[in-house]
Amino acid sequence: MEKKFEGSCHCGDVQFTFVSDLSRVGKCNCSLCLKRNAIMAYTEAHKFTLISGEDRLSCYQFNTMQAKHYFCSSCGIYTHHKPRTQKATTAVNLSCLKTTEEELSGLTIQKISGSELSIES
Ligand SMILES: [Zn+2]
Repeated sequence: MEKKFEGSCHCGDVQFTFVSDLSRVGKCNCSLCLKRNAIMAYTEAHKFTLISGEDRLSCYQFNTMQAKHYFCSSCGIYTHHKPRTQKATTAVNLSCLKTTEEELSGLTIQKISGSELSIES
């Protein structure tokens, strides 16, 4: 069942909501994600709403420069990104969401082969 989650970075400047049933959750093996080590949750782009902190967000791009990886410029936490191959999707840092243990306990963490999508990552 879908639920509206509240999310934020560590310092709280960046706040957002994210509507999802947490059925699409995964870890990616691209060069960025290997270092970032975040579990990501995916939803349709219109179900992600940035509430505050737009001016705090920095955007990191690499390789094909198409995906947009956002992080808080104050505390450095990765909050969300726009994947290169799924323009209608937004992915968020699962650890930024206010979740209960119960909500997290049944999750299947899928493997996302971002490195194979990339030309040279
Ligand atoms: Zn922050």
